[in-house]
Amino acid sequence: MASMEDIVSLAKRRGFVYQGSEIYGGLAGTWDYGPLGTLLKRNIVNEWLKYFVDGWSDMYQIDSAILMNPKVWQASGHVDTFSDPLIECTNCHARHRADHLLRANHILEDAINYDEPAPSPKWAELLKKIKCPVCGKTGGFSKLKQFNLMFKTNVGPVEDKESAAYLRPETAQGMFTNYKNILDSFYPDLPFGIAQVGKAFRNEISPRDFLFRVREFEIMEFEYFIPESIWEEKFEKWRKDMHSWFKHLDLPEAKIKEIEVPEDDRAHYSKRTIDFQYDFPSLGFDEIGGLAYRTDFDLKNHQEHSGKDMSYRPKDGSAPVIPHVIEPTFGLDRNFLAVLSNAYSEDEVEGEKRVYLKLPAHLAPVKAAVFPLLKNKPELVAKAKEVHKLLRKQIQGEVMWDDNGNIGKRYRRQDEIGTPYCVTIDFQTLEDDTVTVRNRDTTQQDRMKIEEIIGVVK
Ligand SMILES: [Zn+2]
Repeated sequence: MASMEDIVSLAKRRGFVYQGSEIYGGLAGTWDYGPLGTLLKRNIVNEWLKYFVDGWSDMYQIDSAILMNPKVWQASGHVDTFSDPLIECTNCHARHRADHLLRANHILEDAINYDEPAPSPKWAELLKKIKCPVCGKTGGFSKLKQFNLMFKTNVGPVEDKESAAYLRPETAQGMFTNYKNILDSFYPDLPFGIAQVGKAFRNEISPRDFLFRVREFEIMEFEYFIPESIWEEKFEKWRKDMHSWFKHLDLPEAKIKEIEVPEDDRAHYSKRTIDFQYDFPSLGFDEIGGLAYRTDFDLKNHQEHSGKDMSYRPKDGSAPVIPHVIEPTFGLDRNFLAVLSNAYSEDEVEGEKRVYLKLPAHLAPVKAAVFPLLKNKPELVAKAKEVHKLLRKQIQGEVMWDDNGNIGKRYRRQDEIGTPYCVTIDFQTLEDDTVTVRNRDTTQQDRMKIEEIIGVVK
């Protein structure tokens, strides 16, 4: 089985994901998507939009600003409560999240009573038994501090309290603050949804596990506005749809787990929350998405803080209501990491170990690659260029050109980036317009007419 290290190494080697600011030694918790990673991510986003947004007449996609009026974050509770419990090792000064340390030492689940607000006073006692994972000293931790995870900045030239702003820690609020605009511009029937794909930022105390816990990340999410009476029915519908989505990403059912978040651990306004977890290499099961029933908490809150009426007026003339909300959330980077890890495969071809990405064709960053058998034969190159141009026109998605090194090496390179088919132009092509099409998973090569390629590579 592949380890996270294998995934990170392939991602870098083949241009999927690089360390952020790498030539300066990096910046913890940031990663840059390379050309193939960008394509794969784009494919996931496009599929998501097709799946949840484009096909529906009741979905409105927006793209709201990352910087928002700081009053938004006061209304949402993020200024006061969006924090993690931070401790520092008194010996080596490494900073840790107390809940992560307790959990890693299997203390949290047993010892913490969910009735107590986290972190509870008991935590100090529990931490005395724990070793610093950096220097190994036992129990030498500073007093626990609540550390706000929002990145703070200033808007305009003056740095004072009035100008303070935050990089958004979630995308949801941009949808709540535009709810009224959507009502006024589009007069949607209830239920309807507002969808958004975009970046969010959290100043994680200890970013780790590659793309899993990072400081800058992307979310695909929608807020689905409903009358209160149908929340259970809609919750169930989205729960099923989320499972179908993971299936659409080719993630096996056995690697997806649903965790019902217990009442005492949920946000106080949520009546039901499910976490979706994926079985990541090295990491085990961890979150890739969530489904929350947020009641009318958000709109009511914004109505109170902004003084604007957030009620929905039903078209049949019945009494105005504040809609309730169901929120399906997908961590894009985590979905990406799940897809990449799941596709990572190893086998043996002609007595040699082969690494390949078994990506489904609709997600593969490159749909097909075209090679001239030899790059120093102008007539082969010319014919191959012709085929390349033709496929580029006919196939939706990237068709790559490769004439570097011998054919075996080119196959291996394409295997490693998950290209489903390689098309080779050889001397026989010049005589009868046939090419070989090689299948990534079976490594089998079939000879066919040029015009037949499109039936195989879609
Ligand atoms: Zn230490």
